[in-house]
Amino acid sequence: MRTITILGATGSIGQNTLDVLSRHPGDFSVYALTAHSQVSAMAELCLTHQPKYAVMGSSQAANDLKEQLSGKVSTVVLHGLEALIEVSQSSDVDTVMAAIVGAAGLKPTLAAIDAGKTVLLANKEALVMSGQLFIDHAQRSGAKILPVDSEHNAIFQCLPEAAQEQVGAMSLNEHGVDYLLLTGSGGPFRDLPVDKLEQQTPKAACNHPNWSMGQKISVDSATMLNKGLEYIEARWLFNCTEPELKVVIHPQSVIHSMVQFTDGSVLAQMGQPDMRTPIAHTLGYPERLKSGVGGLDFATLNELTFRQPDYARYPCLKLAIQACWDGQWATTTLNAANEIAVQAFLDGHIQFTDIAKVCDSVLQNSTPVSADSLEVLFNLDTQSREKASQWVKEYGL
Ligand code: NDP
Ligand code: MG
Repeated sequence: MRTITILGATGSIGQNTLDVLSRHPGDFSVYALTAHSQVSAMAELCLTHQPKYAVMGSSQAANDLKEQLSGKVSTVVLHGLEALIEVSQSSDVDTVMAAIVGAAGLKPTLAAIDAGKTVLLANKEALVMSGQLFIDHAQRSGAKILPVDSEHNAIFQCLPEAAQEQVGAMSLNEHGVDYLLLTGSGGPFRDLPVDKLEQQTPKAACNHPNWSMGQKISVDSATMLNKGLEYIEARWLFNCTEPELKVVIHPQSVIHSMVQFTDGSVLAQMGQPDMRTPIAHTLGYPERLKSGVGGLDFATLNELTFRQPDYARYPCLKLAIQACWDGQWATTTLNAANEIAVQAFLDGHIQFTDIAKVCDSVLQNSTPVSADSLEVLFNLDTQSREKASQWVKEYGL
């Protein structure tokens, strides 16, 4: 029986993880579930899955949860960062699903890494924000990182076993890999005239054509900054050089990513656009678990198409690729600026096309520093958030 903590249990990845776990009673025990503010959703999860611990973002949320659970389950309710860290590194836990959204996930995820857990990594912003430091921590503790993000999970599945053992430190070249090809759907605005992008609403941006996801990642998919964050995520997970990483738009989201080998072979992982597949892959690895997702129906699947991303439509993707090779200061800065910009867009304070403007402006107004400690990373994160908020205040609606 494996014991698991799910960070971000009330989110889209968290709920999909619990859905997969519920198909394997007796194989997994849920140690802790965490959420931020959604008390009723968390209460429901606690009643169903009966974790030992539940962690909320504030004492108010924790008290409300205690009230809802009172007399019904023996779950201990905690709150705050210390509690998140505690349930991530407890010696009772062997696997941690890292599915908090944004930079808020970094500290608890690093705690799991430092404690040598098997970390199922969905929280891409944590890796984008800390890069080499995150990988160094995993190398030191021997933590196993298994990528949940569908593209990285696809690439992982296509790599030889010896490379799968070296996440963060592999030499792609030594494994006969020419390059990795990240696929992206292009989001809900991929066929819209570029001059119509400005007026797109949060509702339209969150209406992803193929995937059902949380709000932040849905907006990131519409700007394709999600693919940019994934580009940076892939750079660290697979230790890529610039020529070893490419992006292509694939509107059907059937191929989740590909690996081009030196002998001309291309391996692709295909499947339904349903996160339960990569989640089940990481939960079962190296075995295969039932996920509740069926296969593909090739009789009705009549075309797989591909096109190059156009940077006039997706300026955020260009910024991310540039930031990736400019250095850690740039990716930490970009990630923080984007989190503020996306929230401002969702709150109706800026237009869709302003997201790229905020990110670009914050990057232009930042100076390169050596970002090799947590302290520097969090300082950069804070400063970038302030600059982005200032932009919103000055030029927003
Ligand atoms: P959601 O917004 O659906 O869920 C986010 C989760 O994090 C919720 O449980 C939320 O709690 C919690 N949370 C939010 N803010 C904080 C905070 N400050 N401190 C602690 N917990 C917090 O996100 P998704 O599930 O869509 O995404 C989670 C991560 O997985 C993201 O990094 C995303 O990029 C990545 N990912 C998601 C995919 C998807 O299909 N959804 C695909 C690939 C990667 P509450 O509900 O109480 O607010
Ligand atoms: Mg993805």
